[in-house]
Amino acid sequence: MPHLGKRIADDIYCYIWQGRGNNCNTYVLASLLRGKRPHVIIDPGFLVNELGERCFDSLVRTMQADGLRAEEIGLIVNTHTHPDHCQATEAIVEASARSGVDGGVGQALTALSVPEAEYYSAVGEKMFAMFGMNAAKLDPCIYLVEGDLVLSNGNRKVALRVLHTPGHSPGSICIYWPDRKVLVTGDVLFYASVGRTDFPGGSITDLKQSIEKLAQLDVEYVLPGHSTELGSVVEGREKVRRNFNAVRMFF
Ligand SMILES: [Zn+2]
Repeated sequence: MPHLGKRIADDIYCYIWQGRGNNCNTYVLASLLRGKRPHVIIDPGFLVNELGERCFDSLVRTMQADGLRAEEIGLIVNTHTHPDHCQATEAIVEASARSGVDGGVGQALTALSVPEAEYYSAVGEKMFAMFGMNAAKLDPCIYLVEGDLVLSNGNRKVALRVLHTPGHSPGSICIYWPDRKVLVTGDVLFYASVGRTDFPGGSITDLKQSIEKLAQLDVEYVLPGHSTELGSVVEGREKVRRNFNAVRMFF
């Protein structure tokens, strides 16, 4: 299966894309919300990529092997709106609405940063046409701003931190979980590399500042939006530190 499932904590699941064509890595933070849709997904990826690989079907199957069902996702966080990260958003909303897990009411909610939502309606939507695809229907109903995003499943509260990290796209965000020292970086930071800045709305100056902002955090796991030749998840404080030093050479 093109996704490799990897669990780094009881409630943090990584789905690393290993197909031949393009797609992003997806991360699931499990059981953070109250009710029948307790899971948070970050960047559900493509439905189908440029090589015809059925990325979303693969993701759903790999998640199922971990006991995580797409219809039990309550919150979809998009780090940014490039097609390879957010095309499957609508499919999750529809699966959750159809499933009737809570008696037919409600559905998964979609979250985006304010500047990324504005960028998507002005420019980002057209990126789908560039890739010969129909634009994704995102319809965010939660607008993320820099700062704490505190979630509760009724038994415990989890404080995630939303970081505004423009450069790859104007409204890119990273999600930091301070208690776990986990940083989900979208297309801002990879293993030994950084996100492209040549797409519309990209800025190398902004990206450099964003990387320096992330480098200040206490991080044991970097969970990036794509894998590189060297790998995907960057594990261990020392390796994370060396990774920041390595990517500074890009600027
Ligand atoms: Zn991107």
